[in-house]
Amino acid sequence: MTVSNAKVSSKQGNLPTVMLDDQLLLRQQTIIEAANQMIATIAVDQQLIYLNTFGRQLLGVSQDHDLLTEPLYVHEFHQAATYQYLNTEIFPKLVANAERWDGELEIKNLQGELIPAHMTIVPHLDAQGEVIWITGIAKDLRLRKQYEAQQRLALRVFDNTIEGIMVTDAQARILQVNQAFVEITGFTEEEVLGRTPKMLRSEHHDEYFYDAMWDQVEADGRWQGEIWNRRKDGSVFLQWLSINCLRDPHGKTQYYVSVFHDLTEMRAKEAEISHLSNHDPLTGLGNRHLLNERIHHAIRQARHQSSRLALMAIDLGEIQLINETLGHVACDRLIQSQGKKLATMMDDSVTVVRFGADEFTVLIEDVVDPYSVSQLAQKIRQSLQEAVELDGHRVRLSPSLGIAFYPEDATDDGGLLRNAQVALNQAKQSGRDTFRFYDQNMGQEARERLMLEQSLRDAITQGALELHYQPKVSLNTGAIYGAEALLRWNHPTLGSISPAVFIPIAEVSGLIVEIGYWVFREVCRQLSDWRQDGLKLPRIAVNMSVQQLERTDLLQQLLSSLQTYHLPVDALELEITETGLMKSEGLALSSVQSLSSEGFRLALDDFGTGYSSLSYLRRLPLSTLKIDRSFISDMQSDRVALSIVRTIIQLSRDLGLDVVAEGVELSEQVDQLREMGCDLVQGYFFYRPMSAERFQTLLLPQEDSSGQ
Ligand code: C2E
Ligand code: MG
Ligand code: MG
Repeated sequence: MTVSNAKVSSKQGNLPTVMLDDQLLLRQQTIIEAANQMIATIAVDQQLIYLNTFGRQLLGVSQDHDLLTEPLYVHEFHQAATYQYLNTEIFPKLVANAERWDGELEIKNLQGELIPAHMTIVPHLDAQGEVIWITGIAKDLRLRKQYEAQQRLALRVFDNTIEGIMVTDAQARILQVNQAFVEITGFTEEEVLGRTPKMLRSEHHDEYFYDAMWDQVEADGRWQGEIWNRRKDGSVFLQWLSINCLRDPHGKTQYYVSVFHDLTEMRAKEAEISHLSNHDPLTGLGNRHLLNERIHHAIRQARHQSSRLALMAIDLGEIQLINETLGHVACDRLIQSQGKKLATMMDDSVTVVRFGADEFTVLIEDVVDPYSVSQLAQKIRQSLQEAVELDGHRVRLSPSLGIAFYPEDATDDGGLLRNAQVALNQAKQSGRDTFRFYDQNMGQEARERLMLEQSLRDAITQGALELHYQPKVSLNTGAIYGAEALLRWNHPTLGSISPAVFIPIAEVSGLIVEIGYWVFREVCRQLSDWRQDGLKLPRIAVNMSVQQLERTDLLQQLLSSLQTYHLPVDALELEITETGLMKSEGLALSSVQSLSSEGFRLALDDFGTGYSSLSYLRRLPLSTLKIDRSFISDMQSDRVALSIVRTIIQLSRDLGLDVVAEGVELSEQVDQLREMGCDLVQGYFFYRPMSAERFQTLLLPQEDSSGQ
């Protein structure tokens, strides 16, 4: 059917009354056919009498379907419920009030597809106001509905995702945040809207970091990376952040969308996993895996720095027996406690791992001297050997240790591990409770030194140490001006051992401190004896190790010895080597200051062998410089040595210090020194170091009875 010339008027007069000519009619029909909405004309009996092109597409009615010969009715285009609604609610009102109806209604096309539509239904009336037909206009809402559903979905995703999301405008003002953002940062939506993300900044990054980040967002449209931000409660957390820039079609930035998740927990989990895979659950120490990693790394570093490593394999001993007699639980406890002992014995630079059931391995980096490793092995052996209380039983283990060195014994990871094991097996075979070096020669040397250290310890307690005295002479008067106390060790089997040999051992092992106190006390005791014998007391110089100077109780100890023997503080002089002091700086220097302010005389020993820096000399409160023996012995053949001696003598005079020439052996040296104005000398030319008894014979009787 086509729209015929008709005169239509509305009951309310709001519908236009038009007269149509053919031209106009054609134009209107073209418009109606071109419309992208369904336009249908429906007769009073609900038959469709006209349907435009769009309507036919929508309802699935083919373009050549003749509506007059093959009639279609409204009920064919709705589901029953919708049709009923139309019939009972919409049409009757339409007819009664002659009013149009607008609303959403579901259409069903001929293929049975349901289509959401926005419908406008308009009644057309005749002159008497009767409805003569109805126009139905329908807009397909499928796309809009789809879009709305998508939007709802996006909103749900936005709110339900575990990632924090923040949307800002081009000026970085926060427009929207999701629930996860609120949960992660602790800020509510109201607290952040309108503000900028700067409010989340921590001080972990500088301005350059943020500048670079935003530069990249502008250049590439996005940035991703790890960033530290701050929560509302002030705590800082690590997050993985991705910023995307949303631009309008002209390329102008409209929004920035930031999506992030909290990495803190993940990192903690990763650390936990790595800890588990690298550690032994029983002892909490590292495991084999960790050891392999550390050895690998340590060898690389040692190669680079040309340094030495030591790997020590430790077998606890009778673990199997304890397992069988006291059970697994007790045995585990024992292994645990031994592991703890080992760990507390080492500093941070040493790696201790549980290598097997009853085996531990220790990796020591930066080993200067194999001897120090043997000392450590000895200490470990002794400590693991100590009896342990276990379920009411006293258990004693006989640990064995095997030691291999990089690079001497092996230059690769596997070789080092293997050779430490070989050494361990040798130790076990040789009757347990001992340690072995992989290389016998190295072991031998270290063993000898260790033995010396051991017997030096005994020497202190068993009185095998003795002091000799070497007089210092005044060239002017020929009189004995004083003496230097020099340590002697009479070893029960090795005989007399030179301090040049045992003092370095005492230094490495720390025994020097104890020995030093003994020397000082012994000199005090000797002086007091001589005083009681009525002898004039010579001033005795005592050598001090820098390790003694680093002890905070030094001053107290020295004063207490002086007090015990009623000696004045200047009865002795303390000799400190220049090189020793140079190595120490801080603590030793302040110790020197306090000794001096307490009245002690201080001599700088072996002067000329260190930096002999003048500014250093100025800072030291000295009374004496001792010119090193090497300059005196070279003086005749070496002009430089001679001029150094001359300079030191001159310098001492200018600084108001005493100067002593050490190691004077020849009369020519005496002449030269005298000529250069050096008064005090010490050396074999006059006296060798001698026993206290012999030295005593050189002392003069006291001039008065008041002592010094
Ligand atoms: P030093 O303090 O420089 O002692 C002087 C050393 O030179 C002594 O060696 C002495 O015997 C030796 N000497 C003296 N006159 C001559 C000489 O004319 N020719 C030669 N060739 N040597 C001479 P000694 O007694 O073997 O002591 C060596 C070093 O051991 C001392 O050097 C000192 O640094 C250290 N020392 C000795 N006793 C002690 C001590 O009680 N405590 C500390 N910390 N170190 C000590
Ligand atoms: Mg000395
Ligand atoms: Mg000296």
